[in-house]
Amino acid sequence: MKLFDVYPLYDVEPVNAYDSIVLDKNGVEYLDLYGGHAVISVGHGHPHYVKSLKKQIEKIGFYSNAVQNSSQSQLADKLGELSGYNEYQLFLCNSGAEANENALKLASFYTGKSRVISFNNGFHGRTSAAVAVTDNAKINSPLNKQQNATFLPLNELELVQKELEKDDVCAVIIEPIQGVGGLDEGTTDFFKGLEKLCRDYNVVLILDEVQAGFGRTGKFFAHQYQGITPDIISIAKGMGNGFPIGGIMIAPHIEPSYGMLGTTFGGNHLACVAALSVLEILETENLIDNAKLTGDYFMSEAIRLPGVKKVKGRGLMLGLEFDFEVSDLRKKLIYDEHIFTGGAMNKKLLRILPPLTIGKVEIDQFIKALQKVLVPEKI
Ligand code: PLP
Repeated sequence: MKLFDVYPLYDVEPVNAYDSIVLDKNGVEYLDLYGGHAVISVGHGHPHYVKSLKKQIEKIGFYSNAVQNSSQSQLADKLGELSGYNEYQLFLCNSGAEANENALKLASFYTGKSRVISFNNGFHGRTSAAVAVTDNAKINSPLNKQQNATFLPLNELELVQKELEKDDVCAVIIEPIQGVGGLDEGTTDFFKGLEKLCRDYNVVLILDEVQAGFGRTGKFFAHQYQGITPDIISIAKGMGNGFPIGGIMIAPHIEPSYGMLGTTFGGNHLACVAALSVLEILETENLIDNAKLTGDYFMSEAIRLPGVKKVKGRGLMLGLEFDFEVSDLRKKLIYDEHIFTGGAMNKKLLRILPPLTIGKVEIDQFIKALQKVLVPEKI
């Protein structure tokens, strides 16, 4: 059988990896500044992560959500403690899109309404409602377009208010920093205003922390830079360091009932142990502080590079904006310099989403490689 050909692929096959290094099948080493799309948080093959998963699979890997599973409550307790959301409730699923799908569904149950406000250039996943609130017509089929979504520009509170006044909106969904869209973020006044409008109009505020969460930006959640408290927070990517897991953290005023949400695989033993060990490593190795420090160092160095118009993002969720499209630059970085980086909807933006373990050495290696690729005559 052939694979369904939906991904344009680089001609590299990683077969081995440790920390921020990926090795291909010929033994060539690559510096991973992409983390498999912001997924690798505590580093490839971290010994504590590997040991925890091995130990768990030898005991039990899976059973359904019809029986007790204390690894779920251990994960919920640790997540509550490290994120500062102890009083919230955790529902576990398997991916970022599924997290947002459940967040939107819950908002609709809670309010009895169905229209969703989201933002220009936002990305929330590829499933039914998640893709409908994603600002990309190309990935929305006629089926998805049946959903009731309204897109607004960032930082335009009056436009949001106008929509909420219509009294048919169940949720506002927003990324604290846009990932796929290209690292733009709302102002603090905008986020605070959104929070107030949602409270005033009884609309659920969903913060999509699928990419920015789990310490990537130098705080546990990126929205914590804005001093707001969402009603629902969606999480995935860095949560499992590569093991598929997602979830939503739900404010106490949204009450559950049996059957309201559900999943077969979500919250399985292996996924919970993966996420729990990620949290333990984030804590013991101070990786959230490291993300902030290393990100600040990157910013100070990168802005001096030739052709760089802007350095965007926070912590280790970063973007370099050039005055040209970066697809050839990414190819040169992979094939000539052996460094993985990412792209964005904004074709002039190079995205940097490394494991949170990297430091100055890796940043210096990247800066040197970029200088070489950007101005080869000067080397
Ligand atoms: N939300 C955000 C902010 C994302 O960046 C992504 C993926 O890139 C998703 C949701 C979808 O996550 P997944 O690919 O795990 O479904």
